[in-house]
Amino acid sequence: MKEIVVLSGKGGTGKTSITAGFAALGAKHLVLADCDVDAADMHLLTAPQIQREEDFYSGKTGKVITEGCVHCFKCMDVCHFDAVLHQEGEFVIDPMECEGCSYCYHVCPTHTIKMLPRLAGKFYVSKTRFNNTLVHARLGIAADNSGKLVTKVREEAKKIAEAEQLDYVLVDASPGIGCPVVASLTGADYVVMVTEPTVSGLHDLSRVYEMIEKLHLKSGCIINKADLNKKITLKISDFLKSKNVETLCEIPYNIRFTEAISQGKTIVEYDDGPLKDKIISSWEKVKTIVSK
Ligand code: SF4
Ligand code: SF4
Repeated sequence: MKEIVVLSGKGGTGKTSITAGFAALGAKHLVLADCDVDAADMHLLTAPQIQREEDFYSGKTGKVITEGCVHCFKCMDVCHFDAVLHQEGEFVIDPMECEGCSYCYHVCPTHTIKMLPRLAGKFYVSKTRFNNTLVHARLGIAADNSGKLVTKVREEAKKIAEAEQLDYVLVDASPGIGCPVVASLTGADYVVMVTEPTVSGLHDLSRVYEMIEKLHLKSGCIINKADLNKKITLKISDFLKSKNVETLCEIPYNIRFTEAISQGKTIVEYDDGPLKDKIISSWEKVKTIVSK
C-alpha cells in the first residue's frame, strides 16, 4: 500500500478538484483521506454515504461539579482565560474559553473540579459514489488540535487500506505549511504539489517544497492554470528543475474546471477532452512513480 498526498501552498489552486479526479480514477483501489479537517470539502465532489461516525476527543476541559463547592472563588482567581463564571450563585466553566490548563483543578480545596476529555470534533468513514472509502472529519467549533485529528484520519484510512489490501491511500491535505499539513505528510510515499502561476503561488510552492525536502519526501508538481501567466509558469518550471522535481503536467485554464465543481462532479467525469487526459496522465505517472 502506498500513500500519496496532494497539497498546495495556498487555497484556490484546484488541489481538491485534482484529488477528487484521482479518486474517481483510482476507484475501489484506494482509500481517500480528507485531511483538510479545518475546511473539509471532499464530500462535495464525492457524495459520501456515512457508514460510521465517531466522536474525536483531544485535550481536557474543566467542569465544576457543584456539590461540595465551598465558594472560595480560588478557581475564578487563578484562571487566566476568564473561563470560570459565577452565575446565579454557582460556578461554571465556559468550555469555549477553557484552555484545559488544569490550574483550577489543582487549587480547588474540595476537589470539586474535574478535568474531562474535550470533544474536539467527529470523524466519519463513508462510501463515495466512486465506490471507494472516504475517511473525513469535522473539527468542532473553536476546537484546536487539528493536527491530531488529521493523524487520526490518516491512521484510519491506512488501517482500512491495509485490512482490505488496497493499493493506495490518497490524502487531500490542507493548504499551507502549518501543523495539520505536516501531520498529513510525514512518512508519505509521494507528494503531489499543486500550484498556479501567481506571485503568491510561486512563493508558497517554495515554502511547501522546503518542508517536503526537510521531511525527505519524493514529490512532483502540477501547474494548474499554467497559461494564465506564462512568465511565472516558466519561473515555476525553473524552480522545479533546480530542485529535481518532476512537473507531472501543466493544465491550461479552462472554465470547465469550475463548471464541473458547480455541478458536484470531478473533471474526469465532466470533461471528455484534453483536461480529462491531463488528469489521467498525471494519475498514471504518480502510480508508476510510487510502484518503483
Ligand atoms: S482548566 Fe485552566 S482554562 Fe480551564 S477553567 Fe480551569 S484554569 Fe481556566
Ligand atoms: S475552587 Fe473549588 S471550591 Fe472554590 S469556588 Fe471553585 S469549585 Fe468551588
